[in-house]
This record gives sequence, C-alpha cells and structure tokens, in this order.
Amino acid sequence: MSELVKLTINDKEYEAEKGSLLIDALLKEEITIPHFCYHPAFGTDGNCRMCMVEIEGQKRPQISCDTPVKPDMVIYTKGEKIDAVQRDILELQLVNHPLDCPTCDQAGECKLQDFYMDSGFYVNRVNVQKNHALKKVDLGANVMLDQERCVLCTRCVRFTTQFTGTGELGVVSRADHSVIDTFPGLKLHNPYAMNVVDLCPVGALTSKDFRFKHRVWFLESFDAICNGCSRGCNIKVDHRKEKYVDDTIHRYRPLENQEVNGYFICDEGRLSHKNETQNRFEQSLISNVETPLEDTKDALSQLIKEENNTLILISPNLSLEEMEIVKKTAMKMNATVSGYAPQYIDESFGDDILKQNDRSANRAGYEKVSISEDEKEFQNALNKASLVVIFENSYFDNQLDLLENKKVVSFFSQNSPVCEKSDIAIPVASFLEKSGTYINCTGVTQKVESQMKKDKQSEEITSLLESINVNY
Ligand code: SF4
Ligand code: SF4
Repeated sequence: MSELVKLTINDKEYEAEKGSLLIDALLKEEITIPHFCYHPAFGTDGNCRMCMVEIEGQKRPQISCDTPVKPDMVIYTKGEKIDAVQRDILELQLVNHPLDCPTCDQAGECKLQDFYMDSGFYVNRVNVQKNHALKKVDLGANVMLDQERCVLCTRCVRFTTQFTGTGELGVVSRADHSVIDTFPGLKLHNPYAMNVVDLCPVGALTSKDFRFKHRVWFLESFDAICNGCSRGCNIKVDHRKEKYVDDTIHRYRPLENQEVNGYFICDEGRLSHKNETQNRFEQSLISNVETPLEDTKDALSQLIKEENNTLILISPNLSLEEMEIVKKTAMKMNATVSGYAPQYIDESFGDDILKQNDRSANRAGYEKVSISEDEKEFQNALNKASLVVIFENSYFDNQLDLLENKKVVSFFSQNSPVCEKSDIAIPVASFLEKSGTYINCTGVTQKVESQMKKDKQSEEITSLLESINVNY
C-alpha cells in the first residue's frame, strides 16, 4: 500500500495516499469540488479548469485533477478567493450555453446546473449574442447529441479512445465554434456506446431510450445487478410507481464496482430493463384457462401428490435462495433437480471487455448448491419423468414435443409457449422484483435487495414454494 500522508483541507485534517491525485482525495472525502472533464476512468485532462483549489505556499490557484498529494499540504476548496475563480470559469462556460433547463433531460442531475446553483452566480454580465449549434444530432446507436449544451469536457471522446478503442468521436472546428461530432463515415456504433450518456456531465448527450420520457426527480433508485450475462454488472435501477400503473423500471445506469464491471455496462444489458416489463406472464392458468392463484396452488399440491416421477428443471437465472428452496422441495417430493440450460450460451455475445457468452446471472450458483447441469443426467431424468416442473428455464420453448405425454407445471415471469402447454402455469416475480444472491463468472457473490412495489399477482418463487403443500 502506498504511503499515507496528512493534509489539511478547509482547516480539517485528512489522510491521503502520497502521489495520488488531489481531486481523488477530495472526492473520496466527499468534499464538493466542481469538475466536468475529470473522470477516474480516464485520468487527468485538465481542459475544464473547474476543479481549482487554493494551495498554501502557491501564488496561483491550481487544478486539483493535476496536482499530486504531498505531505502536509494545506488546501482550500472554498473561500472568497477560490469561489471567485470557480465562478469566473463557470461564467465562461455559460457564455454560449442555451437556457434549456426547463426542457433538458439532464435537469435534476446536471453538473452545470448544480455548480451554478452552488456558486450563487445569478447575474448574466454577457450581452453578446450566443453562438448556436445543432440541437439534434443522431450520433448512431442509441445516443443523441445537442451540440449547444456541450461543455467540451471530452469525456465522451476519451471514452471511445481509451475504453472501447473505437474512436468514433472527436472535437471539430475551433475556439468557441468547437463542437463534438463523429468522424466522417463513422457512427457511434459500439456495444458500449450508451455509457457516454452517463459520462456527459450536462444534457448534451441523451439516450434515445430515455429522453423526454421522465423527469428524473420522480424516479426512485435501488442498486442491483444486470442479468444480461454472467458478468453481473452493477446497476442503478430507476423505477417509478404511478397511480393505477404497476411499478415500472425506466432505465438502468452503471454503478461502479471495480471488482466486477469498473464504471461501465454494455448497451444490451442497459436496454434489457424492458424485459422486466414487456411480455409479462401475469395470470395463473390451469390447462390454459385463467384461474385464481389460490385455486391453482391447490391444484398443484394435488398434482404433486399424484405423480411420483418428477423432474424439476431450473434456470441459471434463479437466485441462490431460490435454488436452495427448490432443492429442499425436490427432496420432499423425491424429485430430480436439473439445471440443464445450454440455450443461455451465446458464442456471438461475449468480448474481452465485460460481455460474457453465458447469458445467465447465476450459473456459478449451481456448484454452490450442488445442482447438476449435466446433459445425460437431464435426458435420463426427462425420459423417466411423468411430471416436469419448470422454473424460468426456456429450454422447452422451441421443442414442446419433448413434453408430450407428460404432466407439466411451469413457473414463469414472462410469457412462454410452455405456459399454454402446461397443466398448471403460475406467474412469478421477475428478476428485479425479487431479492436474492448471485455468483458471477469470476466468483464474486452479489446480493440484490429489490425495492419494487408490486401490484402484479406474481409472487416470488421462494414464498410460493413455502406456501404450497408438497408433503405426501
Ligand atoms: S458531449 Fe458531453 S461528454 Fe461530450 S464533450 Fe460535450 S459535455 Fe463532454
Ligand atoms: S456485460 Fe453482461 S451483465 Fe454487464 S451489462 Fe452487459 S449484459 Fe449486463
């Protein structure tokens, strides 16, 4: 570990790593320091000049993103002198900035708006005509650019050069006519492109998926993981419960976890929030006839009593808790449990950044709770079974004939051809409507505490199995 040294910030003593960036030390201690261009993923750029601090013994203010921590430094991030410097730089930023706040998607989470309100700079001293630029540039993929709102921090440019290595974006033209654009013949088409929307400190880059849909202050958030693949990237789930409408997820945003996904997520995972709401299976069925849930549960208890050769097929997207309760239930029923799920492996999906070919969240959990996914064992159990119970596993979706002459019970959160084919089909909570523990592709165990407010009939698999009588 690097040497820790003492430093004084705004008359209070702190410790920081010698040689680390001063801005990192300030951010770690949650000391407000205005900045646009600095991002820990890309290091120092020093173009916005907003992160100025006063350092005792130095004549002029310094940018904290390019100042290494030294022993016994005395620093001021506020005070008459440094406030005036930050305000002057902000004033320059605002010379050409449009008055879009009332209609801007970034309002409520905009750094420019926040710093402006913090600095108390309310009087516009510049009376010259503002420069105008393009308001609606389709950059490709899922990103729109408003060139007028850009503060030219170049975070988006550096993302494409330093993270994806695709280099689609650049700064074109000069001085106060400089704008962000794609290079001729290029579009922002890379599988991680939408991260530039989160990186953009202002409302210049917006996502086509989310823009003009919701004011961010109406959304609630909780931390979770993506189940788009076995990486299990950490995400913020932004959702809203409106009157007469089910609690709905409106977007995922990346959440930093250096052990799992760093700062970013892929676009496909980000847009998979739609899976939580679209095509939901919501009404329990007996022989494809809509039936109240309690009656369906009774019919299920009866069916379990009658059948004595049962195969339970689970999905590698179930949580550890769900896998455990399914196993416990199977023991009571003397049933075989299989986790066979080759259909979640997609050789065309993975890359050497984050994306994994295994498109399930918890295959590593099988080993933890000793559930086999062996093909032979599964085929043998399927051949013998008179009853097949399926938990969220899509294996039979395109091969319903394998279920001919068998009784079928299915638990799904989304509509599946298997539901119609089932003797009993019960809707269950979707991935983010339930809490649970998952192990990712590198063995990291992650817990999700869902905060969705459910109206839907669908229950969690754990509570459903606890409420069903499976004793002979
Ligand atoms: S578009 Fe946003 S991220 Fe890109 S340079 Fe402008 S302000 Fe920065
Ligand atoms: S890499 Fe995988 S887990 Fe991460 S966001 Fe993409 S699909 Fe989701």
